[in-house]
Amino acid sequence: MSDKTFVVKKTCPICQDETRVVKVRSRLPVLKRDEDGCVHYEDFNPYFYTVWTCEHCGFAADEKTFTTKMPDRHLKILRGELLKNKFGMDFVEERTADDAIFALKLAISYVEQVEGKFFTQAKYAHQLAWVYRDVPDEDNERKFLERAAKLYDASLAKETYPIEGLSDSGATYLIGAIYWRLDEAEKCGVYLSRLMKDDGLRSRDPRLYDKVRDMWGDVRSALRDAKK
Ligand SMILES: [Zn+2]
Repeated sequence: MSDKTFVVKKTCPICQDETRVVKVRSRLPVLKRDEDGCVHYEDFNPYFYTVWTCEHCGFAADEKTFTTKMPDRHLKILRGELLKNKFGMDFVEERTADDAIFALKLAISYVEQVEGKFFTQAKYAHQLAWVYRDVPDEDNERKFLERAAKLYDASLAKETYPIEGLSDSGATYLIGAIYWRLDEAEKCGVYLSRLMKDDGLRSRDPRLYDKVRDMWGDVRSALRDAKK
């Protein structure tokens, strides 16, 4: 058993049975942070555990979805689907990358079925890309980074921020940072320039402002080099 995780019991919002889930201890020593928010730790990947699965009915979602009241429409759709054949998910205390990929893909399929928030869909796709970054599997990482960028963009257009502690400026930066990782300097520039034009950003969020300014400098030199 890992000293970085612990097991708790939670009631599944779909089948109402108690299931074991794995939680990650906070305050792990950080090795490095990527531009798009992916945090690396020594010998451990917390993104393997961001999705909980139910041992009884196979529901999969993040902690927030598991523990907050779900809209009736979502419950109806998911119960109709999952209680029919209750396929269950074997409880795994130490997940491999494959376990994590399976759990995240399952969570994506359920949030798509209920047409849940674009933000949640984006977050799952982004975390899936981070798991592939760890594997490493660059083709799949790029595929899910692209999907995450498009979903965050849809979320910005349709949903009210802040969401889960992220401001709309933070989400705009995140899309820019994802395109930067995808070597798409031009697309990255589209999002960063929106933030550079925002006169209030520096006083509202100085830390974000510094990150945007640094990346903006890199983007401009990359675009200059591309023209040569
Ligand atoms: Zn369940």
